Amino acid sequence: MDLETIIGLEVHAQMNTKTKMFCACDNDAWGKAPNTTVCPVCMGHPGTLPVPNKAVIEKAVRSSKALQCTVNKHSHFDRKNYFYPDLPTGYQISQYKFPLASHGIVKFSITDPKTNASEPSECRIHRLHIENDAGKLTHTAVGSLCDYNRAGTPLMEIVTEPDLRSSKAASAFVEELRRILINVGSSEADMFKGMMRFDASISLRPKGETKLYPRVEIKNLNSFKSLEKALNYQERVLRKLWEEGKAPTGEVTVGWIDDEEKTQMLRDKESAADYRYFPEPDIPPLELSDAFIESVTAAMAKLPSEMKAEYTASGLTQAEATMLVDSEPLRIRFDSVNTVFKDAKRASSIILTQLPGFLTKHGKTLSDAPSAEALSELAEAMKSGKISNNAGKDVLEKMVVTGTSAAAIIKAEGMGQVSDDATLKKLVEDAVKANPEAIESYKKGKTQALGAIVGAIMKQTKGQADAKRVNELVLAVI
Ligand SMILES: [Zn+2]
Repeated sequence: MDLETIIGLEVHAQMNTKTKMFCACDNDAWGKAPNTTVCPVCMGHPGTLPVPNKAVIEKAVRSSKALQCTVNKHSHFDRKNYFYPDLPTGYQISQYKFPLASHGIVKFSITDPKTNASEPSECRIHRLHIENDAGKLTHTAVGSLCDYNRAGTPLMEIVTEPDLRSSKAASAFVEELRRILINVGSSEADMFKGMMRFDASISLRPKGETKLYPRVEIKNLNSFKSLEKALNYQERVLRKLWEEGKAPTGEVTVGWIDDEEKTQMLRDKESAADYRYFPEPDIPPLELSDAFIESVTAAMAKLPSEMKAEYTASGLTQAEATMLVDSEPLRIRFDSVNTVFKDAKRASSIILTQLPGFLTKHGKTLSDAPSAEALSELAEAMKSGKISNNAGKDVLEKMVVTGTSAAAIIKAEGMGQVSDDATLKKLVEDAVKANPEAIESYKKGKTQALGAIVGAIMKQTKGQADAKRVNELVLAVI
């Protein structure tokens, strides 16, 4: 049977505001002792009132714009009622009927790891809403432990349309989404710290049909790898059921067990009615003015996909462009060096090849790397011909090791390209005299013999002679 795979995602991204969503507690609980970043508001004590954090709204609006959503000027919060030990209030404050934003689109590319060929794709965004997170349970042999540090952390829930057609497309989409959120500055999206989590819905249908069949929802996936593996697993299960004539008739929810690489039935899918949503009585509706939306979205950075397109258009490979888009420290340094050279390949050789090489060689990381300004000064010295490319490489290594400026190193080492003609002519004459056999070979037609003469001069000047001029001078005297 020719079946088509239909995938939709719900992504939860933890927002990187200083304080929590409705109280002044520290929003960065990473590494802190359990239950130390809590207060009566996020613990749901009676008589407390939630106050929305303006930074959450601003960052969520920026994210919505970056996902090309319509920001809804009117939205409001709702209570989603359920009991769970990690939820001290007994309800989550979310947005149900009137989300902050809707109708967006994300353009991304799916790269074949074998051929490196990439195929453009896109996925529509159904909605983006904001809500607060629950705490965290740790199950031990003697009982379950509750840590409420994360309770009240702001989340963006981003729901896609069922536009994805393979597990590869799903993971390529979430990778691009992660880039966008990091780029917009609304989430660190650190997968290791669980800052981005996915629920994936999958169903199959005979090719050519347009209706959607009951889906299986896979809950709580927290890495690109587990998302892909869980979808592949569930796709195989569903395919077998379809082929046996037992296609699912109702929606179900399953959990992914990472260690066993399989899904496990959790429950029949809950419906919205089960949560008894009702408008949050303690928070007035959110009414956003055009002026507010414009002010927070006015100076937004380019989208990662736009940056990537510009880098590849300037001559970089897809892989080089992706490295720059994914690393702001590298990107800032690259842009600064490229502004001097106006030659992307030359800037890439310094920033994407030489610099990481020297950092690794000397046991350093990107945070120890010379600043964009320091590298731009090095590039100026190379561009003006003060030092050669080879000498530039040595200076870069010394900058990485010592942390001093290019100018200081060039001065201290007595570097500086030898380019005055009188000195070069003398060097050429001496080298020609010292290598009569190379001259003989050259005259007999062995053009590579010229390299021996130029090489000797470069060696003598420790790579500081102007190689192009040396070449010209050698040709002029023989
Ligand atoms: Zn609090």
